[in-house]
Amino acid sequence: MQQSKVPFAHYKVPEAKEDSYVTGLKLANSLKGSELVPFIPINGRQVNFYYCGPTVYSNSHLGHARTYLGIDVIRRTLRDYFHYDLLSVMNITDIDDKIITGANAAKQEFLEFTKVWEKDFFDAMEALNIELPDVITRVSDYVPEIVTFIQKIISNGYAYESNGSVYFEVQKYISDGHTYPKMRPEVNAELLQEGEGESQVNKQSEKKSPYDFALWKASKPDEPKWQSPWGEGRPGWHIECSVMASAILGNPIDLHAGGIDLLFPHHDNSLAQAEACFNCEQWINYFIHLGHLNIADRKMSKSLKNFMTIEEVLKRYTPRQVRLNFAIHQYDAPQNYSEEQMEQAIAKDKSYQEFFQNTKIYLRQSQVTDAQKWTENDFQLSALLRSTKQIIHQALTNNFDFPTVVDATNKLINQVNIQIAAKNVRAPLISSVVNYVNFIFGLLGINYQTLFSNQIDIQPLMEQVCSIRDKVKVAARNNDFEAVTNAVSQKQLEYEKNISNHLVDAINQFQQEVLVASQNKNKQQIFQLCDKLRDQQLFNLGIKIEDKDKDQASVWKQYDVQELKLEREQQQALLQQKEQQKKKEEQEKLEKAKLSPKEFFSQQADKYSEFDETGLPTKDKDGNELSKKQKKVVQELWEKQNKLYNSYLEQQKQQQ
Ligand SMILES: [Zn+2]
Repeated sequence: MQQSKVPFAHYKVPEAKEDSYVTGLKLANSLKGSELVPFIPINGRQVNFYYCGPTVYSNSHLGHARTYLGIDVIRRTLRDYFHYDLLSVMNITDIDDKIITGANAAKQEFLEFTKVWEKDFFDAMEALNIELPDVITRVSDYVPEIVTFIQKIISNGYAYESNGSVYFEVQKYISDGHTYPKMRPEVNAELLQEGEGESQVNKQSEKKSPYDFALWKASKPDEPKWQSPWGEGRPGWHIECSVMASAILGNPIDLHAGGIDLLFPHHDNSLAQAEACFNCEQWINYFIHLGHLNIADRKMSKSLKNFMTIEEVLKRYTPRQVRLNFAIHQYDAPQNYSEEQMEQAIAKDKSYQEFFQNTKIYLRQSQVTDAQKWTENDFQLSALLRSTKQIIHQALTNNFDFPTVVDATNKLINQVNIQIAAKNVRAPLISSVVNYVNFIFGLLGINYQTLFSNQIDIQPLMEQVCSIRDKVKVAARNNDFEAVTNAVSQKQLEYEKNISNHLVDAINQFQQEVLVASQNKNKQQIFQLCDKLRDQQLFNLGIKIEDKDKDQASVWKQYDVQELKLEREQQQALLQQKEQQKKKEEQEKLEKAKLSPKEFFSQQADKYSEFDETGLPTKDKDGNELSKKQKKVVQELWEKQNKLYNSYLEQQKQQQ
């Protein structure tokens, strides 16, 4: 095998022409060894984008979530931030060895079988708010195109038929001056043998060289088959993406993406096939790869029992929490999924919700007729907004560096939180910041603003409720039951006709019960009713009331009911976990306390070999006398254990 001497020398950076649309975006291009390369589309703003879709034979899992969430964020950013005109194509692999095995096991016709798992995949994508590609291509729809494509490669001299199958002739391709594998120049002969990508027992004799890989496979009995010039058979795996991408997007194509696991052999073979078919040197201009996902530091696999389906994950976390978890990582870096990471995502999500809620209240409480003259605070916040925009622009052009984007956004949010707590910044400026932050979250596929917007405006009603409840609490605190009675019986509440009966009922019930408690001069019960309204009645309807310091008015926030319930469940689960941990530690402590110092050290045969009559170690495990320093340490341990043991004995005595 000959290999190119200079790695990635074959790659040519697309040159900017007069009508090129240049944004400054740079991508880590696998065709150039992940080097950052300026992104120049072939035709102005138009970007043709192909990415490898799933093989549909089993549940969609977290690995899919990582890959397709990453691609989703990239698509939104290319379109909504950089204003490219995107045409996206994703394939569905519905012909494959694993599918044939799965369909046979399920006693299903193979397309019936793949439809089930295809639906599972798209349901999971929808649940995670991942946008559909513009074009979906199924392999089973493109077999005639695949046959024609393979014929062209044969007639160009880079593939041959053997025993009803067709193979790509790697050696011939390289000796004609082409580069293979383009993205893995360091690849060795051993790896090249894996280039086949699928088990090829007894196939060696059919091939001219072990490096050759199948474009078409003669079908075995019980396998799906299609007619071809080489007899009945089916496409190999790699050929599908070369054919379907070209069928929709042509040659050359701007951008191709997929998981890093596909880089070799799948993507290198895709490139070789297309370039052999079109007799060209650069079918794809930019090839980007999504980083690998580990689960708690280990590779995700069914055998390790850490295989997590998207459906399972979404029972524990909201789609937004899952999105945040992946979005705050660099798309092409490896990521390790863990419970701690999800806890961080939950905390982040909560702080973002609070930001949008608190700014909403701030804007709700402000009038355009308020004083508008800028103070030092406004100038500072405005300057921070501008510098944040600059940092974010730099980061996005730098290979979609979302960790930096999120970091800069957090700093802006923190500053706004401080300013609105001090109530010393103009509302129109806050409005500008909120719109910008919302736009940035939009790139991540997250919309906090629509999360709380209900079709029916509960604002007038909720303002009255908060005011009544505040008055009740102040009056009760002052033992002024007449004022309590007045607060709840003053006048009929005013609200929109379409407002939920549950809400109106809850408030009416609150007023009636407070009235009774007030007539009975039961102060304690009045406070309990105020808490019940906040923690149960309104909470169950997705409304939170936040009580402020004594003389300040309370505020209300509206949430998605289901999410609020999940949040409470998550908090309870966390609390339970902590309690269990505490119990476990107490149990361990108790077990330890039951040991006399003698027993305590005798259990440490891995450290010590001889002890004196009190149980104090005298020699280490190798029979050496303990040093002065070691003696001091064991003496302290002995005394500590003795104290623990004595207090245990004392306790036992008292209990008898
Ligand atoms: Zn592919």
